[in-house]
Amino acid sequence: MTLQLAYLTDFAYIASIALFILALKWLSSPASARHGVLAGEIGAALAVATTLFNPEVVQYKWIMVALLVGTMIGIPLGLVHMTAVPQRTAMSHAFGALAAATIGISEYYVSLPRLTKFGMTEIALEVIIGSLSFTGSLIAAGKLQEILPQRPITYRGQNFVSLSVLGCAVVLALILILHPGYSVLFPVMVIVSLIFGVLLVTPIGGADMPTVISLLNSYVGLSAALLGFVLDSKVLVVAGALDGSSGFILSVIMCKAMNRSFTNVMFGAFGQLQAGPAGPKEERIVRSATAEEAAAILSAANSVIIVPGYGMAVAQAQHKVRELYDVLTKRGVDVKFGIHPVAGRMPGHMNVLLAEADIPYDKLVDMETANSDMPQTDVALVIGANDVTNPAAKTEQGSPIYGMPIIEVDKARTVMVIKRSMAAGFAGIENPLYYFDKTLMLFGDAKAFVGDILRELTGGGSHI
Ligand code: NAP
Repeated sequence: MTLQLAYLTDFAYIASIALFILALKWLSSPASARHGVLAGEIGAALAVATTLFNPEVVQYKWIMVALLVGTMIGIPLGLVHMTAVPQRTAMSHAFGALAAATIGISEYYVSLPRLTKFGMTEIALEVIIGSLSFTGSLIAAGKLQEILPQRPITYRGQNFVSLSVLGCAVVLALILILHPGYSVLFPVMVIVSLIFGVLLVTPIGGADMPTVISLLNSYVGLSAALLGFVLDSKVLVVAGALDGSSGFILSVIMCKAMNRSFTNVMFGAFGQLQAGPAGPKEERIVRSATAEEAAAILSAANSVIIVPGYGMAVAQAQHKVRELYDVLTKRGVDVKFGIHPVAGRMPGHMNVLLAEADIPYDKLVDMETANSDMPQTDVALVIGANDVTNPAAKTEQGSPIYGMPIIEVDKARTVMVIKRSMAAGFAGIENPLYYFDKTLMLFGDAKAFVGDILRELTGGGSHI
């Protein structure tokens, strides 16, 4: 490589690293998120293009084939419905991990004759993490897509079996580090790591998959960073480190917002339906209201906080919610949106949906602000949210969500909840909110019910 080309290459890689950092910075706010996506895309394209111009690339045939296959898989993945984004993300991680693992495997065979102990350590670590992340991500995607059973699959001695398999992979890696030439052991180490990925994720319930995905994301990033060392690629080291650390930080944020520990996520078998106490259940009264009544209450209110959740995403009700926001605002009602950090099924789920419907960013308030405004609020309108409003998180010590911070809608003067039935949410537990005197249940699909309220507010109703 000529000196000028080397400088140009370094400059292009530094530019893509800067773009990756800017992408993460901008992605942290809804207002700048679109710029963040664009910066990430340009950074990745620049890094790939620069690598393709490397004189060490001697032929393009197989690269073109890979590009074609990648495009054929990538386009349909990019078109999936919003509610399928968690499993789509798991598939992306699986492909990223597969790429890292296979490059590590080929590096082993290519550099075998002159492989040092240090080089072997890098390859072994990278291949183990890449392989387990590949199968782990596939299992996570399968659970989220409900191809595999969502429930945690556990059995006696499971942790012992899983840790023994991981121990086996580590022992094989240690032998290979001491004797890189024992090539017969290398494929065994890969297979054992692939099996460990399956064992790691299978016992975890579908409910915890978003956190697991984000954790696997950090593993894939770590694997890519290690691959960067193996290939002596600084851009890969930095990109992998950014990916790994951001995935880890996201997992920590999600665990905190659910008041759960990593151990509880990985071994807690969360999301199984909770058995109720034995004996006859006391009859409790649930008050329900019609769209007409709900519209009357909303039009008499001065302030409304809308709390969206997973049901709004499933129903794709965000555009109707936007119309409701417009109609109420025009009538002089102060409308805000209280966003819980883990509402929905992925971080930022509600922000993305509401941004898609062009709801002004400054109307989205975080959980703390929503809670401090709640006692002065006339109506808390819960749309397809359940767990994130469940007062049991504060009052019932035995509850699986005990300690999880919630949006305290029960502090508002009136609570209205749009959902289709009395069914439980993600955590599989009852919500005492639905039996409070101040709560009105609005039974129906979120999009259809908000549409009915709108019709009442805009003239379809008789008395408004
Ligand atoms: P949720 O507790 O899962 O409740 C969603 C509710 O939406 C359900 O009770 C369901 O009741 C209702 N619903 C479903 N489809 C609907 C439709 N078409 N129309 C109207 N309602 C509908 O959701 P959440 O309150 O948003 O809480 C999120 C949960 O996910 C939390 O437990 C959180 O810990 C967990 N979680 C989130 C993340 C994340 O990153 N966001 C990650 C991991 C875990 P019906 O069936 O009666 O309609």
